Amino acid sequence: MLKINENFVKLPASYLFVDIAKKVQLFSQQHPEKEVLRLGIGDVTRPLPKSVIQAMKDAAEEMGSSATFRGYGPEAGYLFLRDAICKNDYQGKGIEIDPDEIFVSDGAKSDTGNIGDIFDRENTVAVCDPVYPVYVDTNVMAGRAGDYSAYAGWSKIIYMPCKKENGFLPELPEENADMIYLCFPNNPTGMGIHKDELKKWVDYALERHSVILYDAAYEAFITDPEMPHSIYEIEGAKKCAIEFRSFSKTAGFTGVRCAFTVIPKELTFNGISLNRLWGRRQSTKMNGVSYIVQRGAEAVYSEKGKREVRENIAYYQNNAKIILNGLAHAGFEVYGGVNSPYIWLKTPERLSSWEFFDLLLEKANVVGTPGSGFGQAGEGYFRLTSFNTTENTKEAVERIIKSFSAA
Ligand code: PLP
Repeated sequence: MLKINENFVKLPASYLFVDIAKKVQLFSQQHPEKEVLRLGIGDVTRPLPKSVIQAMKDAAEEMGSSATFRGYGPEAGYLFLRDAICKNDYQGKGIEIDPDEIFVSDGAKSDTGNIGDIFDRENTVAVCDPVYPVYVDTNVMAGRAGDYSAYAGWSKIIYMPCKKENGFLPELPEENADMIYLCFPNNPTGMGIHKDELKKWVDYALERHSVILYDAAYEAFITDPEMPHSIYEIEGAKKCAIEFRSFSKTAGFTGVRCAFTVIPKELTFNGISLNRLWGRRQSTKMNGVSYIVQRGAEAVYSEKGKREVRENIAYYQNNAKIILNGLAHAGFEVYGGVNSPYIWLKTPERLSSWEFFDLLLEKANVVGTPGSGFGQAGEGYFRLTSFNTTENTKEAVERIIKSFSAA
């Protein structure tokens, strides 16, 4: 008789965003006259840069003519895009990465979720707490996580708490962590990492023969010159780290879908190249990303594209500043927001994350994301995002301050 993958059954249903949506819907039904402002969304709202639109239009035209039509493309991505990535994101910044170390995909979610395919089930996994849930759930699916308890989480996962006490940065685990997921700037805490701090991780991984799975989906938001945009700015990282990047938050591609993963050829375990394994995995399981989308992504690196992207990022950064400064001024304890679109707020008056959510919705008609939804160490915190319009962001901050200073 057929047996299913029992690991999927072990996964608790993910209620976070469903519960939020239900509460907001109920509130709106009960108070139709109130305008609810959403600072909970992790999705961008600014339209795509004009140069990206033009490039995709041109590419669509090419597809309509037999002389320029293209069918299946290279699984790892067209060379024009891998070249542009290498030149702009790496070589131009003094990092030697070759196009054949780049794998273009439809998203950092797919890549961070699928990367586990090339690693053994017995490896130990370390994640930050709070965490982007994809890293944990995909390891549950793969059978690496052990058993779940609401009290302690997954028995085999090494959780690295990121709290105020440690500056929201994970500490090196005493146990042997084989697969270490790091995300900087971080979702949800909004915290960035300095080079010297990241170097500790590279040294740990090199010493213990671990791999660092480095999610840099938010690197475009870094403002601090001491913060690396790529883990390969750290000496030795090419021998121990895989890097994930995305056009989603950088260039507004959340709906278009394009990202890439970097696996240096130097990254080998027992003489086996991870670049080769990932290439084999990808070419077996996917047929690449649409030509039109890759032309759009290439345009992100044109002079006009770069300017437009910078403008969009600056818009969100300004929103982040409005939230951070506004709430800090009013006496809230706020973190992140400087090198990230996310603001991590300590809930006032020792409220739990969900209690604060309910009060915020009721009193200010503002929606955010309860920190406890990202892990146990997120309890007592709350995530706000800078992805709404500046008008709505200002209005939301005013409402929060008014509601809570009158409390
Ligand atoms: N990694 C992190 C940390 C994210 O927060 C997100 C999206 O919110 C992603 C990856 C997903 O990126 P993509 O849209 O490229 O799949």
